[in-house]
Amino acid sequence: MNNQDHNYCQNITGKTKFLGVIGHPVEHSLSPMMHNAALSKLGLDCVYLPFPIAPENLETAIAGFAAISVVGFSVTIPHKQAILPLLSEISPIAQAIGAVNTVIRQDDKWVGTNTDVEGFIAPLQTTYQQDWTQKKAVILGNGGAARAVVAGCVQLGLAEIHVVGRNLSKLKEFSHSWENSPFANKFEVHSWSELPKLITQANLLVNTTPVGMYPHVEQSPLSAEEMAKLPLDAITYDLIYIPKPTKFLQLAEKQGAITIDGLEMLVQQGAAALKIWLQQEEIPVTIMRQALQNHLGC
Ligand code: NAP
Repeated sequence: MNNQDHNYCQNITGKTKFLGVIGHPVEHSLSPMMHNAALSKLGLDCVYLPFPIAPENLETAIAGFAAISVVGFSVTIPHKQAILPLLSEISPIAQAIGAVNTVIRQDDKWVGTNTDVEGFIAPLQTTYQQDWTQKKAVILGNGGAARAVVAGCVQLGLAEIHVVGRNLSKLKEFSHSWENSPFANKFEVHSWSELPKLITQANLLVNTTPVGMYPHVEQSPLSAEEMAKLPLDAITYDLIYIPKPTKFLQLAEKQGAITIDGLEMLVQQGAAALKIWLQQEEIPVTIMRQALQNHLGC
């Protein structure tokens, strides 16, 4: 236990409220560090804890959370879909994406939403704000995170959204899964072999695959030759935040592209969740970002 942890423990009282993150595993989650830094800055009698919960214990754990008046919690792998049947209400955005990353207790009921979309688009609406309606997005990968990225690109109003995957049957499944949502028919799916043509048109290129994530830091979903086809003013965005920057972003930078790493998305989806749990607009985002940067040494 380090000094910082010790301070959190000293401040715990009989009235302390609980927030947390459920996952399996959850030991390496950076969320407790980021959220506790914010709660401490706000001077709230509230702690955010990691809860390692095996899939077979999910229902029991959520019932237990209700019994001890947990205010709300974040949801990570492998519970983002499994939590859905245990909730009384699911926000339209979480329904459309088919995954919940944030749950709040409201009127003795569990209500789920998804703040990954807000987290993803935050830097594209602030630091890199532009008229997205004339731009084309190319998204690498069609897993869970790609769903939030597609929804984010639709919300930004991008003219074209292309999702590229390596497994054709999973790509088809991905397309069909949106059929009854407002996002249906707002994007096209492509096999990996179509990438050379798509890259030349990409104004926004997003990596949602785990390729290049620590410890495989020398890997990139695209080669230097493929990256060389990017338009000069392209924005490349990697959802990965360790390492910072990834090989993918290093290659993009060499081409003169603007680069965004996954740390800001992590911070902004967390800040959006805190707004919901604390029912307040003012969240110390700078403190949250700083806590992560200090930890990651960047
Ligand atoms: P996921 O559901 O497992 O999806 C991964 C996707 O990448 C799948 O489509 C997978 O294809 C594809 N893929 C994996 N290896 C590949 C390879 N070698 N070549 C081409 N495609 C490959 O994972 P996820 O939850 O979406 O997470 C993806 C990444 O986003 C992770 O690195 C995660 O840490 C990051 N993330 C970051 C944030 C943030 O806040 N910054 C939030 C969420 C996720 P197959 O289905 O064919 O295997």
